[in-house]
Amino acid sequence: MPELPEVETIKEDLRELVTGSLVVRVEVLDQALVEQPSSEEFQRELEGARISGARRRAKHLIVELDSGASLVLQLKIGGQLLLVPPVEEPRTALMLILHLDGDRRLFLRDETGFTRTRLLDARELEARLSAIGPEPFGEEFRENGAEYLRERLSSRRAQIKSLLLDQKVVAGIGNIYVDEILYDARLHPRRKANTISNEEWKGLHAAILENLAAGVEHRGTTVRLYKDVLDRPGRHQDYLRIFEKHGKPCPDCEGVVVREKIGGRSSHFCPSCQLEEWRGGEQPLTLG
Ligand SMILES: [Zn+2]
Repeated sequence: MPELPEVETIKEDLRELVTGSLVVRVEVLDQALVEQPSSEEFQRELEGARISGARRRAKHLIVELDSGASLVLQLKIGGQLLLVPPVEEPRTALMLILHLDGDRRLFLRDETGFTRTRLLDARELEARLSAIGPEPFGEEFRENGAEYLRERLSSRRAQIKSLLLDQKVVAGIGNIYVDEILYDARLHPRRKANTISNEEWKGLHAAILENLAAGVEHRGTTVRLYKDVLDRPGRHQDYLRIFEKHGKPCPDCEGVVVREKIGGRSSHFCPSCQLEEWRGGEQPLTLG
């Protein structure tokens, strides 16, 4: 599903292309889409509202309205928000059409049907987002993220991959970028957080920032269904080293990339480069 770089790309596109547009008419084509409020109320509140901006929090795409309400979208694996009519439908994949002034339409399409949306007022939005961890590109995490991760996680026996996917720990990382991040940090996805050394936390922090920044720069990763608002694929798939490279040589050693289910998620790693056990160097701070 779209992760931080993909949602960031869509957000920037929306900011540029639809800010100031008036929502003239709303067609909800899939009743499962709208989780809050009722589908009728959703339509009534959206029609006549003007789009005043767009922002992102973790993997949530937030379309701001001049009414003070926000349209919050959680794009799932097939979720696409398109300003150009989808070429080959099936029409069944269309979940929502926002008819905008100037004879434009914003299509929400998801052939898996899992994308969901809510229309929230400021207080509801705040409550909805309050449990999410720091944004990787926020000043605090950018500067002190290594210490934050160590303090927050170094007493945990859980596997590092599962912890990084927890949006309460850090916002915006999903299954593609996490494998690339752990590869760069030389940490096995099964590595227990309480065995990670200070140096390794620093490397992990740097790998988070580098991989997400590269993803944003390349306008996202299109492994399967991700497209930007103008229906163009991202380019970061050309830069992946480990995700879905199982059976191929590791870019950094003689080994072969493997794939295993870890924490319920398909995981790709190099067993030679990524250490499941701590091996020498600075003694990690192990509690419990
Ligand atoms: Zn390797």
